Amino acid sequence: MTAKKTFLFDLSINELQDIVTSLGEQRFRAKQVWNRAYKNLASSFDDMPDVPKKLREKLKEIVSFSHITPIIDLLSSDGWTRKILFKLDEDAQIETVLMGYDTRRTVCISTQAGCGLGCTFCATGQGGLQRNITSGEIVEQVLFFNRALQERGDKLTNIVLMGMGEPFANYKQVMKAIDTLTDSEGYGFGARRITISTVGVVPMIEKFTAENSQVNLAVSLHAATDALRNTMLPINKKYPIEVLLRACGEYIKQTNRRVSFEWALIDDVNDTPEQARELAKKLKGMLCHVNFIPLNPTKGYGGHESKLKRITAFREILNGAGITNTLRVRRGIDINAGCGQLKQEIVSK
Ligand code: SAH
Ligand code: SF4
Repeated sequence: MTAKKTFLFDLSINELQDIVTSLGEQRFRAKQVWNRAYKNLASSFDDMPDVPKKLREKLKEIVSFSHITPIIDLLSSDGWTRKILFKLDEDAQIETVLMGYDTRRTVCISTQAGCGLGCTFCATGQGGLQRNITSGEIVEQVLFFNRALQERGDKLTNIVLMGMGEPFANYKQVMKAIDTLTDSEGYGFGARRITISTVGVVPMIEKFTAENSQVNLAVSLHAATDALRNTMLPINKKYPIEVLLRACGEYIKQTNRRVSFEWALIDDVNDTPEQARELAKKLKGMLCHVNFIPLNPTKGYGGHESKLKRITAFREILNGAGITNTLRVRRGIDINAGCGQLKQEIVSK
């Protein structure tokens, strides 16, 4: 009976050094493995020519190199969006999406397999939580897509934690993954090019504020009154808008950084002039930005995306109050690129 192997991408450099020395090898060998894995984007232990073969063989026995196996791999018809459903184990799958736009290459990664927070319009929420994923499983999604880009002479420019799951419901693993990805002696990804999106788990926003991280914070707001937000995002009953916005205000004050608010525009639900006015009132004077995205249709929710005319009217109210905002284009709709949608598609077939 073999014990479960340690996963390479779950390890910090110190943990890897301990393993290498416990195998009777010199400590600096760990740094060689780390460099190959993160700087050269090696695709296996054998892809590390300067690491002695003897050590590679020993490592292979106790350390696994990959935890995520692609089971569905789709390219959108415009060629700009690639989405993969990965199998983690018998009980868990995650989705990762790569989006290209001009010179930007953004990977949208999952932070949990499924999600337990039950937002009504979200495909992931409709499916419930399978399990938390590990920091290595988060990191490997990034490396997987970066290797593919590297083969084409291209590279990743942005990382968004907006795939399946609530990052702040898996805080420790998410932060460890960010530490690994931003390690200047390893993968070295700039924290300013990473964005965490939270549905509004207030105690964790406070914890994140205290970290004084350079990682960008996005908050899924979607409604400007508790009466409406309660019906869309159940977490609002625990942390209502006032409490949430106070935590955001504190974040801005402590870090001097802007918060992005996300708003999925749903026809006749949250695209009304009343909601726009209420939103403008609540955000006025705050160092923030609003990102609008038309709703992606999902199986378990009857709402529709807003019509352009209503979107324009809504945005004009915000513009009038001096609140900067952008309307994001929806990409990869033909491959169910919205988070959790691909899995929903295969489960319901
Ligand atoms: N759990 C985190 C991050 C993952 S969801 C969060 O909720 O913020 C990433 C973003 O996609 C969130 O803003 C979420 O509200 C939004 N989203 C979920 N389902 C959607 C849908 N069907 N259409 C448009 N946006 C959606
Ligand atoms: Fe979870 Fe975010 Fe979906 Fe809500 S929107 S169910 S928090 S993944």
